[in-house]
Amino acid sequence: MSVLVLMEDGDPSKQALTLARKFGEPRTVRMDSIQPFAPDALAAALVGAADEVNASAVFAAGTERGNEVMARVAARMGLPFAANCIAAAPGDPVEVTRLRWGGSLLEEARLHSPRPLITVAPHTVLADDGPAPSEVELRGDDGDLTVRVADHVKPSSGGVSLAAAKVIVSGGRGVGSQEGFAILEELAGLLGAAVGCSRAVTSAGWRPHTDQVGQTGTKVAPDVYIACGISGATQHMAGLKGAKRILAINSDPQAPLMLNADYTVTGDLKEIVPAISAEIRKRR
Ligand SMILES: Cc1cc2nc3c(=O)[nH]c(=O)nc-3n(C[C@H](O)[C@H](O)[C@H](O)COP(=O)(O)OP(=O)(O)OC[C@H]3O[C@@H](n4cnc5c(N)ncnc54)[C@H](O)[C@@H]3O)c2cc1C
Repeated sequence: MSVLVLMEDGDPSKQALTLARKFGEPRTVRMDSIQPFAPDALAAALVGAADEVNASAVFAAGTERGNEVMARVAARMGLPFAANCIAAAPGDPVEVTRLRWGGSLLEEARLHSPRPLITVAPHTVLADDGPAPSEVELRGDDGDLTVRVADHVKPSSGGVSLAAAKVIVSGGRGVGSQEGFAILEELAGLLGAAVGCSRAVTSAGWRPHTDQVGQTGTKVAPDVYIACGISGATQHMAGLKGAKRILAINSDPQAPLMLNADYTVTGDLKEIVPAISAEIRKRR
């Protein structure tokens, strides 16, 4: 019985391949066989390839692109899709364990499907060195190319990328407005830091989505994360698991981020942030 695995560059795909081997003999298809990235065209081609090899299941890495393509495969096939699994046991039904809520919850679920569609959460499965599987050629159709990457826009966080930043000054709803971020920009400039934000901020249109930290934003791993006026919802904290030290500035000492921070300052960020910048200037 063959299993189809969508492969992209990097370890997460090798980890997906490892889990897929439990379900049968893997055959692979390459994500970059359709360029530029065109999730719907890939999904259509993947559905065709799954029929061609009579795949009993389809796997991909639980990356942003892997999940997007598989969601479209599921819609096209009219089948359920289990995203971000850390374990899966073949059978009828298939038993899966999924990462939910940004990794704060593990869900045990049963998947009733003639062709299980599964993505594997990155870095949760130890990749093996099994034999190299044979590749299936993907056949794209120009008619499916309506959704595709048209352009790449550079992030606006002052040239320092959020994902790579050593220091991040991040603002939440407590900043109050788009203009309110000027004092955070100033502090970030002094520290050579990137500016981040919560989803409340991107939803309000104060900052672009590329600045958002969290489950549906960027996962960050700075030496210091300075959270200003952010409450610390689970979905925000999910992006902070790699942060080494957290400094929280909040008027509410009971805000979850204050309770989870290494250092806290209770008060109005509009007074505290400029005071920190002034102190840094004085010492230079
Ligand atoms: C599926 C899903 C995915 C999500 N993904 C994300 C995500 O990736 N990232 C994310 O951030 N959120 C995400 N969210 C939203 C999340 O649940 C919260 O709604 C959001 O993080 C709240 O943003 P906030 O902390 O800025 O706002 P609030 O929760 O409103 O907190 C504002 C904070 O500012 C403080 N404050 C107010 N005024 C001041 C002041 N003058 N000085 C100091 N402190 C002040 C308040 O005490 C409060 O703690 C997601 C939600 C869902 C359902």
